[in-house]
Amino acid sequence: MPGKEPSAVRVAAPGRPGWKSTRKDESMSLIEIRDVHKWYGEFHVLKGISERVEKGEVLVICGPSGSGKSTLLKCLGAVIEPTAGRMTLGDEVIYADGWKVRDLRALRRDKIGFVFQAPYLIPFLDVTDNVAMLAGVANGESRAKALELLTALDVQHRARAMPSQLSGGEQQRVAIARGLVNRPPVILADEPTAPLDSERAMAVIRILNDMARKFETAIIVVTHDEKIIPTFKRIYHIRDGVTHEEAGEGREFE
Ligand code: ADP
Ligand code: MG
Repeated sequence: MPGKEPSAVRVAAPGRPGWKSTRKDESMSLIEIRDVHKWYGEFHVLKGISERVEKGEVLVICGPSGSGKSTLLKCLGAVIEPTAGRMTLGDEVIYADGWKVRDLRALRRDKIGFVFQAPYLIPFLDVTDNVAMLAGVANGESRAKALELLTALDVQHRARAMPSQLSGGEQQRVAIARGLVNRPPVILADEPTAPLDSERAMAVIRILNDMARKFETAIIVVTHDEKIIPTFKRIYHIRDGVTHEEAGEGREFE
């Protein structure tokens, strides 16, 4: 959106008032995937994926429907188990031909922010509390954090609405705020812009890039949304179960 001020996330950042680091280990936001395979029964979906994502870096993986994008993110997010390979977050090996972390729920809760394709909002909580609950309890502090993100995502006017009263695009923006509210060191976003028009899709990409820069978050976005793919610097295509690099223009964010 040329000429338009980026809709930066108005959040506390290192060195700014209100910032409080919740990270225990500053080096944990680096992702490394080495030779990861996934079979569903006889079906070999991931045939040896190797990637590295540094702190503060956004990696996009694109590919057609059915190419294994969600499978890869779910493996990395400890939602499903890979069949073979190795994955590390920071200096912690989380998978090496088997899980190496005892408490996978704690891993997901403390280190990984998910932004799913479908919003999965809790129907009996209003928008603010859907976001605030993920920051722990819905209290004054977490609601304030939630509102900051809802504002950045341009959905603050729906803060008191119930999920059933929102449009699909609004629900998705609330779900994105929820994925970001804990400032996780890793964000995994599965087709985060699928239900959004191009202006809103670009706003979401800006927010993810801002998160990466301000909080040194390592972000992996999988998508087949042609609107957003050229805006990234590091782009990989997933084809026949492996990833291939493509030079990204990264034109919006350089
Ligand atoms: P994408 O996200 O790129 O659309 P997926 O990772 O969802 O692709 O799926 C990759 C392939 O694996 C597809 O052919 C899909 O049908 C298959 N698949 C996904 N989940 C399962 C499952 N639980 N059991 C068997 N096959 C699956
Ligand atoms: Mg998918």
